[in-house]
Amino acid sequence: MGLTVINRIQEGLTTKRQNLTNWLSSAPEPDKEICLACEDEVDDQGLQAHLRVIDRALAKAADQTLGVCEVCHEQVNDRLLEMDYTACVCLDHYSYEERRQLENELELSQVVQRALLPRETPSIPGVDLAAFSRPAQIVGGDYFDFFKFRDGAHGMVIADVEGHGVSSSMLMSSLQTALHTLVPDNDSPIPVLERINRFYIHNINFTTFVTVFLSRFDPASRNLTYASAGHNPPLLLHVNGRDELSWLKPTAAAIGLIEEYHVRAETITLSPGDILLLYTDGVTEATNAINEPFGVDRLAAAVKEYSGLSAQELVRAIRQSLQAFCADKPLADDITLLVCKVYG
Ligand SMILES: [Zn+2]
Repeated sequence: MGLTVINRIQEGLTTKRQNLTNWLSSAPEPDKEICLACEDEVDDQGLQAHLRVIDRALAKAADQTLGVCEVCHEQVNDRLLEMDYTACVCLDHYSYEERRQLENELELSQVVQRALLPRETPSIPGVDLAAFSRPAQIVGGDYFDFFKFRDGAHGMVIADVEGHGVSSSMLMSSLQTALHTLVPDNDSPIPVLERINRFYIHNINFTTFVTVFLSRFDPASRNLTYASAGHNPPLLLHVNGRDELSWLKPTAAAIGLIEEYHVRAETITLSPGDILLLYTDGVTEATNAINEPFGVDRLAAAVKEYSGLSAQELVRAIRQSLQAFCADKPLADDITLLVCKVYG
């Protein structure tokens, strides 16, 4: 084991710890509630447990016992340790099944380091789709994409990396690759998000956290099943008659924050005319000259006002409302909007 690997892990863990504690002390309470998926009061127990795991690893790195195998007292494989800095048993000592699972994780980590896959143009029967994304800087931390689940259902994702710049865009591209690898092998968003969290939480290459909303849509039943890892609640407008608004709340904490990670899924049935709006926090947190945020109420009002338009026109109308509100003030954050309108 080269000392450089341990040094790199030490450095990565120190950055990770700093990022998490900074976020914990500086993020507004409502943001924490969403990212930690708390109902009303912020409960950061899961995050505290994660910080303790990081501290234990840092202590081991300091006294040079990090990655020492508990069975044979040799160093575990470098790649295994980079993927999971808590690894303390060589792959050889595991049972066949356990080894198979760990090798799958290693394989995923290799896939994830590779280049981006080409993006497919989405075509979902019965749904009018439009999207817009603009990074605040040269490279952004926002991401959206479309996939097919194993059974053919249409997958749609929107994600937001905490932080900006080159490292967050690298994290985005690795998330994209992980999703392209995992979604076609699964029928539900649950195992996909759980596996991505497991992969990210102790991986030294990922030093921050990500919010992800992942859904699957079956055009025949119009059922939308979603899981949201701490993402800003998408807005659903039931157009027929009453213009009922609902918000699709998180069903799990953001990816990379919580040790004991459980994901729930919710299923809703969309009706003709319904509008689903996915967005990142750059939209609701964009401010005007007197630092007022655009907020969810203005966003909802814009969707209601322009609900008769096509998906593409609706995206444009929301952008115009946002622009009018912010006037000349430059964007502080990336902005991503994704509109799905069920054909009436
Ligand atoms: Zn060993």
